[in-house]
Amino acid sequence: MATPTELARLVDLHLADLRDPEPNWTIGPSPMAGRGVFATRDIQQGELIFRERALVVGPTARKGSILNTCVCCHKLLAVKDFLCKNKCTLPVCDKCSDSEQHRNECELFRRWQPKDLQKGKDDDAEADCCPVNAMSLRILTAVRVFFLQPDQRALVQAMQANDDKCYRGEIIKAAQCFRKFPTTDKPYMDKLFRVVGVLNTNAFEAPCRMGDHEILLRGLFPLTAVMNHECTPNASHYFDNGRMAVVRAARFIPKGGEVTTTYTKILWSNLTRCIFLKMTKNFICDCARCNDNTENGTYLSALFCRQQGCKGIMIPVQTKTLQPDWRCLTCESVFPHSKMARYQDFALNTINNRINACSISDMITFINDMCPRFCPPSNYVLVEAKLNVIWRMSRATTEVFTEEQLKCKDRYRAELLELLEKLGAGECTLKKLITEERL
Ligand SMILES: [Zn+2]
Ligand SMILES: [Zn+2]
Ligand SMILES: [Zn+2]
Ligand SMILES: [Zn+2]
Repeated sequence: MATPTELARLVDLHLADLRDPEPNWTIGPSPMAGRGVFATRDIQQGELIFRERALVVGPTARKGSILNTCVCCHKLLAVKDFLCKNKCTLPVCDKCSDSEQHRNECELFRRWQPKDLQKGKDDDAEADCCPVNAMSLRILTAVRVFFLQPDQRALVQAMQANDDKCYRGEIIKAAQCFRKFPTTDKPYMDKLFRVVGVLNTNAFEAPCRMGDHEILLRGLFPLTAVMNHECTPNASHYFDNGRMAVVRAARFIPKGGEVTTTYTKILWSNLTRCIFLKMTKNFICDCARCNDNTENGTYLSALFCRQQGCKGIMIPVQTKTLQPDWRCLTCESVFPHSKMARYQDFALNTINNRINACSISDMITFINDMCPRFCPPSNYVLVEAKLNVIWRMSRATTEVFTEEQLKCKDRYRAELLELLEKLGAGECTLKKLITEERL
């Protein structure tokens, strides 16, 4: 793996004109994990730390993503006949089909001979429903890395990659989409495996807006990715239209301090973050918040006591474990995790199903009248439901809300701000979004 000095050199080249002549950050070895970003001087709350362009972007191709989106300009395409006119079977608009940006990948995909092309001829019914295979779209970002400049490719090589078996599965599934995928070319396949590992370990999903259409892009932002994780980080990042990462200090960071970001959502409970980090990043976080089972007094994990007649709340006893025991703060009963996990899943599903199906006013009624019967108000699922209401009300342009509903929104917002304050989140992205109502 590259030394911090070599990594820093490649990052400087990548930043190019966005590199501050005297940056307030540097890359160095981190006590947390591998390498990290450190403050070279005191950084004040809200101060800009850096901006960087994506080194490479591509479609996320997740379940549920809109596949008829141009993989180059991200414009929403027609629901039919939206594939590249040069027949690489990628969704590409007419203008981008012949563009310099698309040429190399177009040629490569055609050489690999996508199978879906043939299937369309044999079976029109199937081709009608969706001629795009999400797995071949998913590999596109990795393929694009091979067409970068030498220094940019060296930067990708210098990044960390978890060695995870499922990445091989991702490549195999992609290979099955083509007749002539270079599966027997071992050096190529080794390089591809490494790139897929780097992407899965480091890529961000960055929202990108095209008119009324918003999609998530899968982007590699190398410097942003060097920052280590903390559950309440001291830096906040956001993505400017999918292609630019902007990182600011959420709190004061003293000279020499490590600049941290978060890989989870700030409002998730200890247990939810712990499971997510273990599953996706393969580590157990040891930050101050993860070591406190009251979660800075926010009780984001709390569930109602399962003991008959008790109205107390239960919280996990042990921290930093995937299967803690739960204890009631009132009657001190202890229940095993298996029982509480079922209850948490019930609350999560009940609330999330509503979020996806209800109008805003029904959602407010549900949150205020029904939820308190089965879910403590501090539980993160309920907190996120309130955030969802604020978000939807801020975006609704045609709906008219009653005085009462507007009051609810203000109350939810005040509750969320108080929560962020307790977590010590500072000027985090979520706070800005809540106060500016630009979610
Ligand atoms: Zn396009
Ligand atoms: Zn093409
Ligand atoms: Zn943590
Ligand atoms: Zn109890």
